[in-house]
Order: sequence, then structure tokens, then C-alpha cells
Amino acid sequence: MADHTGDRARQPKVDTSSIKTTTLMSFVIFALFLVAVLWGLFNSFINTYYARARTQEVIRTANALETQFIQDRDSFDTYAVQTAGTNGIYIRIDVSDSRLIYDGTRTVKDTGAFANDIARIRSKLESSPLESVTETRSSTGNNSRLVYAAYIRSGSDSDIMYIIAPLYPDEVTFRILRSMLIYISLIVVLVSFFLAYALSRRLSAPIENLTESAKELSQGNYNVKFDGAGFTETKELARALNKASYEMEKTDFYQREILANVSHDLKTPLTMIRSYAEKIIDISGDNPEKRNSDLGVIIQETERLNRMVTDMLSVSNLQSNNVEMHMETFDLVEAAEDVYESFRVLASSEDFEIQFHPCKSAWIVGDRSRIMQVMTNFVSNAVKYSGDNKFVDIRLNKGNRKVAFHCIDHGIGIPSDEISHVWDKYYRTSANHERDIEGTGLGLSIVKGLLNLHNARYGVESEEGKGSDFWFEMETVRKPNVKNDKSKAASADTEGSDGKED
Ligand code: ADP
Repeated sequence: MADHTGDRARQPKVDTSSIKTTTLMSFVIFALFLVAVLWGLFNSFINTYYARARTQEVIRTANALETQFIQDRDSFDTYAVQTAGTNGIYIRIDVSDSRLIYDGTRTVKDTGAFANDIARIRSKLESSPLESVTETRSSTGNNSRLVYAAYIRSGSDSDIMYIIAPLYPDEVTFRILRSMLIYISLIVVLVSFFLAYALSRRLSAPIENLTESAKELSQGNYNVKFDGAGFTETKELARALNKASYEMEKTDFYQREILANVSHDLKTPLTMIRSYAEKIIDISGDNPEKRNSDLGVIIQETERLNRMVTDMLSVSNLQSNNVEMHMETFDLVEAAEDVYESFRVLASSEDFEIQFHPCKSAWIVGDRSRIMQVMTNFVSNAVKYSGDNKFVDIRLNKGNRKVAFHCIDHGIGIPSDEISHVWDKYYRTSANHERDIEGTGLGLSIVKGLLNLHNARYGVESEEGKGSDFWFEMETVRKPNVKNDKSKAASADTEGSDGKED
């Protein structure tokens, strides 16, 4: 892997749009926001919250005191002193014959403390249908207090318990709470900073990995493997990039192959043309018979060149969707017969046997000349790759509203691991290299493009050394009636039918 530490060292500024910085900043901002909210809540709600919690606590305490008072009068004093102490409250119980007062440290004498508060709450209790009442009394500063009064169900109606509880935390409690909040804030900020740092590193690591690999790929190293370990998304990206790199490698390989093949294939006819032209100048120029024969070779080689260039143009047009189609309804069997006829001449001259097994007429919608090009390609390949067994069988099968064209040879066949590639442009099987059979590897990719434009199904069954069956299948349509036939409109009435097709 390339060392990019130098690059990093040279980057003086923080990259604010990087994943690392963004995650870090987001977390820190979030943490600060959280702390601000915490402090805001603390300052604005602590008093209200404290008052509410205190009220509930006082009511609970009162209930416990009442139970104790009724059930165990002997140990009540100790219990009440303790309760007053731990809760920081003032307790007064008026029973018929006495008044008990507890302030937290001991049982105290009645000094008339909180007399006003108690008088008020007593009248409130007496005028209320409830068993207990509370009231908040406030004086200057933070001296607000909760005043509570309740009847004690001890037998006498006039037994009442009063509790006075300060409603706000004292300064010490406030300070403790505040310092606790400072610690919490610090912990929140620190923890989120470390979390953010760890997360940002985890997030950016696979992306940095992928970037490094992409840099290597861009330098032509197709062996590089993309590793997006860590997250589903980066794994997915790595898989897509690995596929892309594999495809790039394949394309690159084929392009190099085709360059080698095409240069070789172009060179052969060019050499021939040049040497025959020289021959005409030097030797046969004055001899009309020899000269015509040499010119014939030149024309033949020029045609070969022309075919190759036409193939290349077709591929490029198909690739850019720049193909004009002349759709019409025509009989595939008739078109196939035309193809067969054109090869029959060759068959007789080159000791070939070509058989034709047609079916009844099968009308299809398509570009007749392009479909003929497809069939011609299949048959010429069958002839080209037939090896020593010079027998080719052209078959048409019809049924189920479909017609299939088969071109079967018993030639060299295609190795099973190469079958899927024969439709790729520039692909030529390994057997070609051994046998030095002329070709560009473009024919079948043109066929594939044309058949796709016709929405046809197509394929090949082949076995190495035994031969191949290249086929395509299209939907049949009704035979056009005579009037329509003249216009040859592409009436894509795909509703095949019962005998009427014929
Ligand atoms: P070309 O024949 O110009 O090489 P094609 O695209 O027509 O290109 O074919 C691609 C490859 O598929 C051929 O190079 C050949 O290896 C293989 N191929 C095509 N037809 C046959 C066949 N009938 N038998 C064996 N191999 C075939």
C-alpha cells in the first residue's frame, strides 16, 4: 500500500467536511447542548421539583407517624424525634390532654413556634371535609415552608398532627447538587468526546481503506481487493467496487486482446493488398489474366477489411443505441431459407453439407434484414468452427405461439467455462488461438444486441469437441392479410392463433 502519511502531515488545516471532524463536532455540540439543558432545568425547576417532592414526602411521613402513634404510643417519642431529625421537620401533635412537640433533636417544650401557621392550618382543616390539608407559607428569602395538618384517628376527634417542613433546599444542599451537576457535565462532555472520537475512527476507517484501494485501482492494479469490513453499507460498497474492478479488468483484458487481434487481422489483408499491388506493378501488370487474378485477391482482401470495420461500427452503434430498425411482419421460415440458399453455394464448393429443416410459415414482427444478419452469423460461425465434421443443420421449430431457429454444428464446440462469455464483445474462445481461425469476436455480441432489440430469447448449447446449437426464439403473430401485407405495417398483433398464423 502506498504511504500517505506524508500527505497527511502536509495538511495543515482541519478538514471540516471530513467524517471524523463532522462526527466529533456533532457529538461535542450534542454534549454541550445536553449540559446546557441540564443546567437550564436545574436552575428553573429545582425549586418547584423540590417543593413537590417534599410535599409528598411530608404526607408519607405523616402517615407513618400516625400509624406509629396509634399502634405503639410508648416508643412514639423516640420515633418522632428520629423522624423529625432525619427529615428536618417540626412536628406538633395536639391530643386532648397534652401537646407533643418534636424538632429533630429532642422532645421540646411548647414555645409557641409556628403558632400563626398552625392556627391558620387548623381553621383550614376544620372547615375542610378532608382528613388532611396542606398549605405553603412563604416569608422573605428562601424561607418558604409547607404546613401540614391532619386528624389522627386515635379515638378523639380533636387529635391533630401538624408538620412544618422547609420547602427549599438549603444552601449546602444547593452547593452539593451544583457540584454534582458540574461533575456530571464534565463526564458527559468527556465521554461523548471519546465516544465521538472512537466512532469517527470506526466510521472513517473502512472508507479510508476503500479510498486507498481505489487509488491503487486507478493506477491499473486490478489485483487490489476492496475491503469494507465494519458496516453493511461499506461492505456493500466494497462488493460493488470489487465487481467494478473485475469488470474493468475484464474489459481491459478484452480491449488489449481485440487490439492485438484486430491489428493482427487488419495486418494480414493489408500485407496481402500491398504485396499483390506490388506484384501487379512488378510482374503481372502487362499480363491481363494474371493481373485480373491479382486484382481479384486485392478486392477480396478489401472486402474482408470492410467486413471487419463494419462489425466494429455495428458494435459501437448498438452500444450507443444508434440502430435504426425497420419493423415489418415477415415469415421467418422464408427468411431462413434465403440464408440457407446463400450458404448452399458455399457448401457445394467447399465440400460442406448443410441441411435445412423448416417448419410451416412462422410470421414474426422484426427487422427482416437484421434477423437475417443474426441467422447468417450463426450459420457462418457453424461453418467456421465445424472443424473436420463439415455438417451443419438449420432447423425451425414452431409451437405455443413461438418459433425457434436452431443452427446446429458438430464442430469444435465451446468449453463449458467459456460458454457464457461468447456473447461478450471481443471474446474469442481459447480454441481459436490454437487453430488460428480468423475473426474479431464481435459477431455474437452484435447478434446479442440485435436479438435484445427484438425482445427475443436466445442461447447456445455446446459441448467441447462435439458441436454447438446456437438458437433464438421469437413470438409469432397472425399472418397479415393481403392489404396490410402490401404496406408491411408492423402490426404487432402478438395474439398468435390456431392455424390462422399459417
Ligand atoms: P468471431 O467468430 O469473429 O470470433 P463471434 O462473436 O461470432 O466472433 O464468436 C465469438 C466466439 O464464440 C468465437 O470466437 C468462437 O470462439 C465462439 N463460437 C461462436 N460460434 C461457435 C460455434 N458454432 N462453435 C464453436 N465456437 C463458436
